[in-house]
Amino acid sequence: ETATVSRPDLHQTLAAAATPTQPAVPAMSVVVPLYNESGSLNLLHERLCGVLDALPLARREIVFVDDGSRDTTFAEVAALCLRDPTIKAIRFARNFGKEAAMAAGLRAATGDVIVLMDGDLQHPPELIPEMLERWHKGARMVTAVRRSRDTDPWLRRKLSQAFYGLFRRVSEVALTEGGGDYRLFDRTVVDAINSLPERTRFMKGITSWVGFRHEQVDFEPAERAAGASAWSMWRLGRYALDGLSAFSTLPLRVWSLIGLGMAALSGAYGGWLVLRTMIWGVDVPGYASIMVAVLFMSGIQLISLGVLGEYVGRIFTEVKARPLYLVAERLGFEEPRR
Ligand code: UDP
Ligand code: MG
Repeated sequence: ETATVSRPDLHQTLAAAATPTQPAVPAMSVVVPLYNESGSLNLLHERLCGVLDALPLARREIVFVDDGSRDTTFAEVAALCLRDPTIKAIRFARNFGKEAAMAAGLRAATGDVIVLMDGDLQHPPELIPEMLERWHKGARMVTAVRRSRDTDPWLRRKLSQAFYGLFRRVSEVALTEGGGDYRLFDRTVVDAINSLPERTRFMKGITSWVGFRHEQVDFEPAERAAGASAWSMWRLGRYALDGLSAFSTLPLRVWSLIGLGMAALSGAYGGWLVLRTMIWGVDVPGYASIMVAVLFMSGIQLISLGVLGEYVGRIFTEVKARPLYLVAERLGFEEPRR
């Protein structure tokens, strides 16, 4: 017969687990970064409202973050604001990049559930009910994973596969391959993300780093509704470097291993040279081996210096502690501009 032990703390934990604190009818925020999306904005708003109106929500809001668009995007957002009081709009002083736009949107969002999606309608709003369903069943983060990358060019697909492979090997977090920035978050997760002070933002890594119960739903990405992708190969490359350096120090540390290996090899070679000179005497020719060794070593040193530079550069940006973005205008917020 087992005696009942009194463990009030444990009982409390169990009771809390049995009755989830999340509201049955949540307030929802949808965060959309926009950069030159005037072509798809109205259609996006229409489809989004169609989906949101059908959901049982205590309250809803749509947070549009205009990332310094050069077209009429913000004017159109402002026009929508007049018709739809659930819209909040932030306009950046210039183009600060999608990561900054997402960060601003997540900070402005007030819902119990927060959906983050692209503004070009490649992320179908019709997926939101399924994601919300997962949240109701206990998931704290739901990532919409692209079933195929057919809408991407071949080279881009291959490079992205290589990137995910490399990232998996060298970094401290695992990325969901094919997981874009279409996600649903619980309030807890967004609070955790908002608490991260780093300036080199890499959302795919951050969402994986914070943890929490994570689930996936599949979707087929649509073609862009209008306009062109703002991500050139060069920009994607820089972004990949940002991600790697933010979540891995292996590129930095690997040089001590390489150096150790090189030192061991040159030690052995040097020993053999001394021995050979003592036994067979001085032997002048050796131009080729010297040249090869000098060129190879300087190559290695330059590479390691470059890697060091990448990290030092990022330390520099963090230390400067500039804000992630500057806001030029805010619409639909109750409190006056911060
Ligand atoms: N975006 C942004 N700032 C930028 C570039 C893009 O806010 O500097 C937004 C863009 O409006 C869209 C989302 O990020 O809502 C995804 O951009 P895009 O479609 O160009 O990327 P892709 O789908 O090609 O990865
Ligand atoms: Mg897109």
